[in-house]
Amino acid sequence: MKFRFFGGADEVGGLAVMMEDGFGKVMFDYGLIPRDPPVYPLPAPAVDEIVLTHAHVDHSGMIPWLTANYPVTVHSTMPTKDVGRLLMLDSIKVARMEGYSEPYEFSDVDDAMKLFDIERFGTPFEIGGTEFVPRKAGHIPGAAMFEIRGERNVLFTGDIHTAETRLVQGAEAVRTDVMVVESTYAGREHPERRQVEDQLTDKVEEIVGRGGQAILPAFAVGRTQELLLILEKTGLNIWVDGMGRKVNTIYMRSKDFVASPSNLRRACLKAYEVETNEDRFRSDRADVIVTTSGMLDGGPALSYIERIKDDPKSGILISGFQVEESNGHRLLSTGHLEINGVIEKINCEVARFDLSAHAGHSELLSFVERCNPETVILVHGDGEKRRMLADSMDGRKVLMPRKGETIEL
Ligand SMILES: [Zn+2]
Repeated sequence: MKFRFFGGADEVGGLAVMMEDGFGKVMFDYGLIPRDPPVYPLPAPAVDEIVLTHAHVDHSGMIPWLTANYPVTVHSTMPTKDVGRLLMLDSIKVARMEGYSEPYEFSDVDDAMKLFDIERFGTPFEIGGTEFVPRKAGHIPGAAMFEIRGERNVLFTGDIHTAETRLVQGAEAVRTDVMVVESTYAGREHPERRQVEDQLTDKVEEIVGRGGQAILPAFAVGRTQELLLILEKTGLNIWVDGMGRKVNTIYMRSKDFVASPSNLRRACLKAYEVETNEDRFRSDRADVIVTTSGMLDGGPALSYIERIKDDPKSGILISGFQVEESNGHRLLSTGHLEINGVIEKINCEVARFDLSAHAGHSELLSFVERCNPETVILVHGDGEKRRMLADSMDGRKVLMPRKGETIEL
């Protein structure tokens, strides 16, 4: 078997891995990294089928380009298709807004949707006479790992989270011979989640208790819903704005893919959805606003922050990963934010909470041990940090490919 890495090998995001074996050429994910300018995967050759692990744009963002060139079947779960569509359409809008050339057109997204085959966890499907089985990956609702049952079994993880969260169950370990595994948090651990949830809830209650408003910038996919679930019991007046509202609707109907459909439904329906500009004008009534964008590079979050930025009673609570060049990273490291092209000093409280959707270093290690592969291929990780994970895997062959490389096993 052969693996070619078109993206996301020695970098976090932009995953694109082609596996070639008796069944033909299958592309696993084909994502872009939404930076300035966006990072695209290397152009792919003709593929026979496509397998998509989850909806995040760094895994799905270039699927419409791929299917416009090679109109082949795309295998994914239902929430991955539905949420992926939103993010693909959004990628075009973002490119237009920021003045980059559009990687594909709206009609390419529609055409791609017609090529999807919807798969279910635990139910095998066939590609070229070989069985592929989707398995729970944790991470976000609908995220799948794929077990490939050949002469040697292969497990392709995509992004994984092994612990159960309020939103989604943890990844399911599967015995395998070869494992292509993400390594986003190689060398780093997460604090205990329930403790972080308590600290976040306490901070929100403290802010509201002193007469302020809490703004929670959040990724639309996964984080928005998890925050609503965490804060539901506070009984506070919670508002939700941005693309997260549409994702709420998709996840509420994805009952087989969330930890508790009834809890999710209750939390989403309790939150007030901001729909119009008039809503935004009277948003000072809200205690808490959960809103995109998660890294503060746009979206309604900035207009809310503009209103509270000099109010010492209010606070901005960051809970997602902030890439180095993002506005959110600027806030955490300098106390300033770019709002409407102007760098502004932020005088309200700013706090950070680690609620990652990825497994930490030890969780990755113990997951690999439970899957017990002979060969491990580490992808979706910082070039050098992967080494720390590799060094802890005694007795296994560990490979750390770079973008553009081919591995033959
Ligand atoms: Zn992801």
